[in-house]
Amino acid sequence: VLSTFSGGSVLVYSDLNTAVTPKDGQHKKKVVVLGSGWSGYSFLSYLNNPNYDVQVVSPRNFFLFTPLLPSVTNGTVEARSIVEPIRGLMRKKGFGFTEAECVNIDATNKKIHCRSKDSKSLKGTSEFDMDYDILVIAVGAKPNTFNTPGVEEHAFFLKEAEDALKIRQSVIDCFERASLPDLTEEERKKILHFVVVGGGPTGVEFSAELHDFLVEDVAKIYPKVQEFTRITLLEAGDHILNMFDKRITAFAEEKFQRDGIDLKTKSMVVGVTADEISTKERGTGKVVSEPYGMVVWSTGIGLRPFIRDFMQQIGQEKRRVLATDEWLRVEGCDGVYALGDTATINQRKVMEDIDAIFTKADKEKTGTLNKKEFNGVVKDICQRYPQVELYLKKKKLRNIANLLKSANGDDTEINIEKFKQALAEVDTQMKNLPATAQVASQQGKYLAKCFNRMEKCEKRPEGPLRFRGEGRHRFQPFRYRHFGSFAPLGGEQTAAELPGDWVSIGHSSQWLWYSVYASKLVSWRTRTLVISDWARRFIFGRDSSS
Ligand code: FAD
Ligand code: MG
Ligand code: MG
Ligand code: MG
Ligand code: MG
Repeated sequence: VLSTFSGGSVLVYSDLNTAVTPKDGQHKKKVVVLGSGWSGYSFLSYLNNPNYDVQVVSPRNFFLFTPLLPSVTNGTVEARSIVEPIRGLMRKKGFGFTEAECVNIDATNKKIHCRSKDSKSLKGTSEFDMDYDILVIAVGAKPNTFNTPGVEEHAFFLKEAEDALKIRQSVIDCFERASLPDLTEEERKKILHFVVVGGGPTGVEFSAELHDFLVEDVAKIYPKVQEFTRITLLEAGDHILNMFDKRITAFAEEKFQRDGIDLKTKSMVVGVTADEISTKERGTGKVVSEPYGMVVWSTGIGLRPFIRDFMQQIGQEKRRVLATDEWLRVEGCDGVYALGDTATINQRKVMEDIDAIFTKADKEKTGTLNKKEFNGVVKDICQRYPQVELYLKKKKLRNIANLLKSANGDDTEINIEKFKQALAEVDTQMKNLPATAQVASQQGKYLAKCFNRMEKCEKRPEGPLRFRGEGRHRFQPFRYRHFGSFAPLGGEQTAAELPGDWVSIGHSSQWLWYSVYASKLVSWRTRTLVISDWARRFIFGRDSSS
């Protein structure tokens, strides 16, 4: 444990350095990156170390700007506008790219097995192996159906660009079908009943986009059937958008009510057939089935099967998600990193390491910490355990010294009991990072910066802890910075929650949303395309052909 704690400053060198570059003449270390999404693309954009031979494997040769995906479902934005081809970046950086899917990781032999589409081969696919020295797993996650029967077969997902296009096609098909002659009113109502499952940001945004489309465009294009349309949003929990501030949840629920979106909370979907969706009401246990025309499933994410196999190999079979340490190194497997939605950082508890922290800080071995000893360790604690900072913020304290003062009074020396007492509650503030693009891209950038400095850190091994400037040659653990989140609610209104408890809802935040997302788009090409799509929509309305 002692070494784990000191890992904040010392252990890291030796471990990360197993991945260090060879001298001239030797072959370059081969870094294989799986995935070209938020975390992978960000990693590749910031990676600048000529000593690595970088090979990217991903089933799609583009980066997808997922936050605007819901806008593709109703034609506000074109799918082409939010994808960035990856070949450009590969050429600029001198990286290799193979369009294929990794299907197996062989951690013992440092090899991956891949499959690619190949229309010429008999099976329609071709398979190959690739070895690596360092593997970076950035493959994201897949939609989670919780094994609900019928979902795979009958529901639509909203994860990839194709998904959004399929949804768009299907919505328009529903309207064309409902406009056929000789249908009863019941039949038209069924076809035009759109069900969205999952009240998280994606489900809510999709419902809002669909509602806008129905009100602003469909009313003009299909005036005869418009009265038969209905949107139902199903959520298993008590509220939608439960990760947001309560004010936002309340606003969204009221707005949906006003808009006529049928919001059903406490409703768990238990099955989907070709014609009906069944839900169980929490509490009463009553099961109801309703006819529908289209179901969109958006209830969260799950592991990709080959990641599950990999976890078995490396002794993580008991975990729900792939675990890494704070340096994004996969636990139990050398030379493999994982970031983004694929993995979770397994944060350490202060209270588990507290004896080690104390012993390490107590340089003079007096059994108590004096001011100097104490100051020597606080920075490491704050860096290594992000929950400390959150706890101080919650208690409105400036630093740990203040926290200790409250436990220790005016004593200048602090003993282990008091030390424990002061820090006893900090672990209550531990939180897993959310599965968002914001986290994924920051992790990609962080890891690239570690890789860029790998040699420098090797040259300056374990120096004195507080040597000046030494911090630059050390790998700090990953730290997430939250810049806020948005929940577009339709009708040109967006809810925004920014750091410092700042909540804003309405048209002004919609403009903030437009500008933030325009600025986050990864290239001027996509930025131009998206902005012109928005302008086109304002002027001409949405395109309804399919
Ligand atoms: P991804 O971005 O999903 O990338 C995974 C990559 O791996 C892809 O390139 C994929 O093709 C590739 N891959 C898959 N399988 C394999 C394989 N077997 N071998 C090799 N490569 C593989 N987050 C926000 O912060 N803000 C938002 O507004 C927001 N809106 C969203 C809207 C929608 C509709 C969705 C679906 C997500 C949204 N998110 C948002 C979440 C965000 O998109 C994810 O958190 C983010 O994409 C995670 O990044 P990642 O790199 O882990 O995975
Ligand atoms: Mg990725
Ligand atoms: Mg992506
Ligand atoms: Mg993650
Ligand atoms: Mg001492």
